[in-house]
Amino acid sequence: MSDKEVKMLYKVTHLSGRCRTGNDMVGQITHAVSGWIAICGKKPKGKSLGWSMWSDHELTCPKCLSKIKELEAKEMQTQKGNQTK
Ligand SMILES: [Zn+2]
Repeated sequence: MSDKEVKMLYKVTHLSGRCRTGNDMVGQITHAVSGWIAICGKKPKGKSLGWSMWSDHELTCPKCLSKIKELEAKEMQTQKGNQTK
């Protein structure tokens, strides 16, 4: 599975809402979101606006990145398995 195919399964986006302080990094970390919850387990808090409707190009959450690598590795193993059958 290529990067593009993996990214199509998840929306790369960030939590929406204004940054109240210059130290608020919430809006700058992008996650791979499937449904309502990012694959790293991150989900919007009750009062937040939720995930941005805009997709981001770059996935910056380290946990999401490692999850995607795991999924890619599994997918490659599956493909190899199918080929040998
Ligand atoms: Zn994440």
